[in-house]
Amino acid sequence: MRTAYAFFSGLVLGAVGVLMVRPASMGAQTSAKPVRLVTPAPVLTTGNGSLLIPVVGVSAEQLRDNFDQSRSGGRMHGALDIMAPRGTPVIAAVDGTIRKLFTSNAGGLTVYEFDAAQEKVYYYAHLDSYADGIHEGLAVKAGTVIGYVGTTGNAPPDAPHLHFAIEILTAEKRWWQGTPINPYPLLAAQK
Ligand SMILES: [Zn+2]
Repeated sequence: MRTAYAFFSGLVLGAVGVLMVRPASMGAQTSAKPVRLVTPAPVLTTGNGSLLIPVVGVSAEQLRDNFDQSRSGGRMHGALDIMAPRGTPVIAAVDGTIRKLFTSNAGGLTVYEFDAAQEKVYYYAHLDSYADGIHEGLAVKAGTVIGYVGTTGNAPPDAPHLHFAIEILTAEKRWWQGTPINPYPLLAAQK
């Protein structure tokens, strides 16, 4: 992981934040283990600590609720599209585990993350690329860079964005199976 952190710091430090080491003694609101977080200033200074806006530099005010929009074939969108320049770091919204790295026609390059309790799956799609060191089974903290905004899959080439979904898992805990909930009110409530 040393090389991965070096890569992150070189890439991200100048633009958006600092790498932090949080010792276990810092308190109950953080992990018991020392971890390094990429800290996007606009998020961690305003977030409630449990769910982060998963694109660095995007504020709650910039979000638009497009969860209920219709998509091709009569489907409901069931997700949030977060517009951002290509290459903007995408961060884990919650503490959890990278469950699946998957490439699909619609989603392009995607990440499926389970939360620590395996109650929900967090889906990040249209990524330009994965962050260095990301792999299935990797435990991540909220704020860990997992990839970069892009247009892979069916996203318009001139409208890079993160397609972000939260789904309630079934008892079988299948990464591809869940009931979507609207992330907008959860993220927009952050001040
Ligand atoms: Zn979308």
